[in-house]
Amino acid sequence: MTRPIVIAIDGPAASGKGTLARRLAAAFNLPYLDTGLLYRAVARRVLDRGGDPADPAASAEQARTLGRLDLERGDLRTPEVDRAASAVASIKPVRAALLDFQRRFADASGAVLDGRDIGTIVFPAADVKLFVTASLDVRAKRRHLERLAHGIDPGYDSVRAELAARDAADRARAAAPLVQAEDALLLDTSEMDADHAFTAAADLVNKVLARG
Ligand code: C5P
Repeated sequence: MTRPIVIAIDGPAASGKGTLARRLAAAFNLPYLDTGLLYRAVARRVLDRGGDPADPAASAEQARTLGRLDLERGDLRTPEVDRAASAVASIKPVRAALLDFQRRFADASGAVLDGRDIGTIVFPAADVKLFVTASLDVRAKRRHLERLAHGIDPGYDSVRAELAARDAADRARAAAPLVQAEDALLLDTSEMDADHAFTAAADLVNKVLARG
């Protein structure tokens, strides 16, 4: 039997890593986990209970009791949850509670996981690590178009400012900050559309796997 393969994809918000990770998972026949959803679902549960996402005890309790159904909710990608997810993600006991879930996910068949700390903390021995990024302007344009497609127009400047604030918080926090793992390959998608990014990423994965 061959060993399950783990592909770790990290990067800032709206870098295109989610779309890319989903397509890589399909191409390499691996299960896919969007780990940002875990933090979003914890944040949603805290907000639903009228709690403060920055409160360590309230957030850790929701992280410890998180279930699979929580990840399937349709209201995890609102700007309010963007901010609250970033707040709960800086709380160490929250991250500790979610670590096992992420590791177990890849146990049986391997996986493609995307997030902020997959290659550094969750799977430091992942077979392939990609750090996917794009300029702040390109990422803000993409996120603004997504919001417009959902019938919301917060304005480009506001989307850009929110992304910049969230990235700064994710990079500066003490617990599992967003950083490129030393052995991660950098993929800058600023000048690429989704198809081009996928072809480039699949090439990198194939090269690394062929090296063994
Ligand atoms: O990827 P996404 O934008 O959905 O993630 C939402 C938030 O969850 C991020 O801003 C980040 O603070 C947090 N996150 C994290 N570690 C991960 C995935 C997401 O801290 N592995």
